Amino acid sequence: MNDARQHGQRPGTARRDAPAEHVPATLDAFMAQALAMEFEAVERYTEFADAMQTHNNPEVAALFRTMAGYETRHAQAIMQNMGWTEAPPVPHDQVAWPGFDAPEAAPIDAIHYLMQPWHALELALAAEQRAEAFFGALAEAATTDAVRAAARELQAEEAEHVALVRQWMEKVPRPDNDWAADPDPPRYTD
Ligand code: ZN
Repeated sequence: MNDARQHGQRPGTARRDAPAEHVPATLDAFMAQALAMEFEAVERYTEFADAMQTHNNPEVAALFRTMAGYETRHAQAIMQNMGWTEAPPVPHDQVAWPGFDAPEAAPIDAIHYLMQPWHALELALAAEQRAEAFFGALAEAATTDAVRAAARELQAEEAEHVALVRQWMEKVPRPDNDWAADPDPPRYTD
């Protein structure tokens, strides 16, 4: 875990600052990476949903499951477009879901057992925005038309997810300042 994080954040090698170095040269390689990112997003949202369920927060759990569903369909669309029946292997260090700096960083820390739908959406919004920016940067740096077009298409789909999350955020109540105060907090023994 620490390995990947140090690797990803070493000054001068930050992948986000130098997307050109990381743009796959072929459409197949690019889509394989995109697919791996979608699967990772599905996994992440599902983890969040499971955690929320464990904490008796079914409303937020359902929200994360819906996001996982969107990303699953996104992944299925990529597989179908590429004519793949199984996901091609991708070098592990090339897979970083842009919502988080390193896939190995414990994402579960980002959630709170009392979080409200608005918080969940805030988290999803940031992830989807970074996904959009990531594909945008790849499109800029692409060296072939095929990769550029594919990156633009994925960027547009992520932009739709961003818009969707924004719409949701307008429909759910904004949390009070004391949303994390628990009248009956869970007790831990040390
Ligand atoms: Zn998305």
